[in-house]
Amino acid sequence: TVRVRFAPSPTGFMHVGNARTALFNYLFAKHYGGKLILRIEDTDVERHSEEAVKVIYEALRWMGIEWDEGPDVGGDYGPYRQSARLDIYREYVEKLKEKGLVYECYCTPEELEAMRKEQLERGEPPRYTGKCRHLTEEEKEKLRKEGRKPVLRFKVPEDRVIVFEDLVKGRIEINSRQLGGDFVIVRSNGMPVYNFVVVVDDALMKVTHVIRGEDHISNTPKQLLLYEALGFTPPKFAHLPMILGTDRSKLSKRHGSTSVKEFREKGYLPEAFTNFLALLGWYPKDGKEILSMEELIERFDIKDVNSAPAVFDTTKLNWMNQVYIRSYPIDKLTELLIPYLEKAGYALSSFDRKWLERVVEVTRDYFTVLSDAPTYMETFLKDDFEVLDEAKNFIAENPDRVKVIELFYEKLKAFDGELSQEAFKKLVKEVGKELKAKGKNLFMPIRIALTGKMSGVELPILVELLGKERTLKRTENTLK
Ligand code: GLU
Repeated sequence: TVRVRFAPSPTGFMHVGNARTALFNYLFAKHYGGKLILRIEDTDVERHSEEAVKVIYEALRWMGIEWDEGPDVGGDYGPYRQSARLDIYREYVEKLKEKGLVYECYCTPEELEAMRKEQLERGEPPRYTGKCRHLTEEEKEKLRKEGRKPVLRFKVPEDRVIVFEDLVKGRIEINSRQLGGDFVIVRSNGMPVYNFVVVVDDALMKVTHVIRGEDHISNTPKQLLLYEALGFTPPKFAHLPMILGTDRSKLSKRHGSTSVKEFREKGYLPEAFTNFLALLGWYPKDGKEILSMEELIERFDIKDVNSAPAVFDTTKLNWMNQVYIRSYPIDKLTELLIPYLEKAGYALSSFDRKWLERVVEVTRDYFTVLSDAPTYMETFLKDDFEVLDEAKNFIAENPDRVKVIELFYEKLKAFDGELSQEAFKKLVKEVGKELKAKGKNLFMPIRIALTGKMSGVELPILVELLGKERTLKRTENTLK
């Protein structure tokens, strides 16, 4: 069975690139009825707070990604946090020692830097020369006495061609000479490094496919050497294309939001965001772009992932979000909008929930993101408003226009019953007839009376939702 993993470092935020990696792993696992493992890679980070791990859980759950094994849900191959696996790593370091495949290196960072500079000056690519490969016990003892603490380096075989078939990038071949020499697997502080622990974990967790960002492609040959050294069968690899901004440079803060949380807070719907991420580097064969999670799972094929970089196009994301907003279940959408409205200062308890849903219904076509809602819903929620200057001028241009408002007010006051859209239209028609006003001269004064603006939602819809009392009050205030 297929077993894949998403292995983020708890950095405190989830970058969209990581989110895409998580999603592709999820889609791949679910497509094949396999398992997704969540593994927290917290050996490299200085402080790995619970808070930073929670950020990962929240981002994934918001996107609709569930994992089958992980620190919080358990599983047969745990622990799922690297900081809890240090004993396991030590055991495998011992195995490499026994096989004579690693050695202690006492070079200081300054010495390594000097080595590097010399090589660059000679026009050679920098690499560790293997200086400490053959130290005797006496030499080591002497270096330790100087207060030096060793790192552990892995002996990279000379002149070996390492080959793998990447499921996205195709066949990749590299000579071991190009790996920069014997690489570190345990730091001087005793902490094992990423390239080593990732191999131990993926092997012990029986990972069948490693799907991750292209930035890790240069690590893969080193990891393959470690699989071999440890006697493990390597998984298959798939390296996902980079994500670029619309200016074709690597996606960064400069392009705007890059963390899942920021997109969530702006008011992108999780379904839209996930759908959008799925199309970063992958495209379904049938060309359908608006796809639910089920539809994504059904269609997802790693072979269709593009090896060329993907472009993060916010315009497309916005379009998708609008598509989702327009078809979202109204009660769910209203629920999601409430925090935005409260933040904008509306006391929502004074409004009936069903009424609020109707307002959402008639305004949602104007939203791009949920945080747009207060602007478009304001006219329904707030009865006191300033009449805009252009609106004042419009009224002042022609005395008949005030008369329209006055007569509308009189008729409305006398009106009895439910102020439906039809009833309102009929009322306006009577006003027009009596004052011989029509078109702009009839509708605009009423719009201004009710909203203070010269454009906005359709008046019958507004009036029906306001009801007689509020409509009357607004007209009265404008006339004052
Ligand atoms: N912790 C690594 C990262 O966040 C995982 C890389 C991998 O998937 O092997 O980039």
